Amino acid sequence: MEAVKAGHQVAHHTFAHLRLSNTTSEVLREDTATLKKKFDSLLGKSPTYFRAPYVGHQISKEHADVLAAFDVKNIIGWSISTEDWKEARAYLHFIFAFFLTSFFKYSR
Ligand SMILES: [Zn+2]
Repeated sequence: MEAVKAGHQVAHHTFAHLRLSNTTSEVLREDTATLKKKFDSLLGKSPTYFRAPYVGHQISKEHADVLAAFDVKNIIGWSISTEDWKEARAYLHFIFAFFLTSFFKYSR
């Protein structure tokens, strides 16, 4: 919460740190609904940016559509792993945009 108050961007990184190449749209929908509830209760708002867990993953159109239904329309691309999976428990997991090396906006 201090990071948000300081003006940092907080993004969706999945609630359960999903490997999207093995994740159905329905699982991503349920995961995002859970994440949205947590963000809404903690911060009073939900993230509009998303960065997929695990390096090198390309998000599918189906996954982007699921995210867009939750107003998550800014998909972040990246090429450097923070190796957050080595330490962080997925449910405590937040990623800030300043770790990211590149992004593009998913325009609709
Ligand atoms: Zn991660």
